[in-house]
Amino acid sequence: MPLLKDAMPLMKEPQPPLQVPLPWILPSLFAAFNVVLLVVFSALFFAFPCRWLAQNGEWAFPIVTGPLFVLTFFSLVSLNFSDPGILHQGSTEQGPMMVHVVWVNHRAFRLQWCQKCCFHRPPRTYHCPWCNICVEDFDHHCKWVNNCIGHRNFRFFMLLVLSLCLYLSALLVTCLIFLVRTTHLPFSTDKVIAVTVAVPAAGFLVPLFLLLLIQAMSVSAAERSCEGKCRYLQGYNPFDQGCASNWYLTICAPLGPKYMTEAVQLQRVVGSDWVRVPSLHSPTCPFALEPPAPTSGSLRAREGPPREWR
Ligand SMILES: [Zn+2]
Ligand SMILES: [Zn+2]
Repeated sequence: MPLLKDAMPLMKEPQPPLQVPLPWILPSLFAAFNVVLLVVFSALFFAFPCRWLAQNGEWAFPIVTGPLFVLTFFSLVSLNFSDPGILHQGSTEQGPMMVHVVWVNHRAFRLQWCQKCCFHRPPRTYHCPWCNICVEDFDHHCKWVNNCIGHRNFRFFMLLVLSLCLYLSALLVTCLIFLVRTTHLPFSTDKVIAVTVAVPAAGFLVPLFLLLLIQAMSVSAAERSCEGKCRYLQGYNPFDQGCASNWYLTICAPLGPKYMTEAVQLQRVVGSDWVRVPSLHSPTCPFALEPPAPTSGSLRAREGPPREWR
């Protein structure tokens, strides 16, 4: 029977930035620069090597790379402005000395008090030191888009990584085919542009494929980037509902309403015995708690609306 103290290390905060905090404009400019970089390199690609191939009857290249660029561009812009699952302040009657405990698939979680947002965070909710917000199901802070990746936008993050992998692969293959088919032609601007596009595309492909692979493995195991495997003691991850269910919950399940009111609710269904234990007024008491009586099956879907945490 896991004790409450076993779950305490799970609630470790993401590491704050070590450097002196930069003005908010610099991360925003970096994210905007990445969008501009994508547009500029794509414009060069379509205006030179891809145009040459199309003029010579190779219409398959623009037909494949065009939609991939549109998908990549819109997923990148969408992720920049998406809501990662921000949790706002809960009840003003709460305080750091109150103790809330929840059980997730026989694992106890003592809810941590966020001093910045002044509420008890649900499990897997962390305070992003870069954005200064609490995000539900926090995965990581992505500096490339200057946004947190959490419950509400993780699927868009996966879409961006996947579309970038496909798009850069298409760019690289197209440029290489163009260079092979123009070996008999003299040196031209088209060739310079093809090399200029192919080199960074190849450089980004390997880390992006590795990132896609790591994220896919994390989704399969219901893990998050900000949580190390070692934190789940005895190898038990209470959020793991099986590979297929984990993918469904991450990619396809309804996101639920946004947290734009004072009430703090838990959106994500994580198991049948996700039960709130009544508040205790002494932080020294929770070790005496007993787990709630298990229902019929530890992974049965919980019924009814999300519970409030107020
Ligand atoms: Zn917070
Ligand atoms: Zn953030």
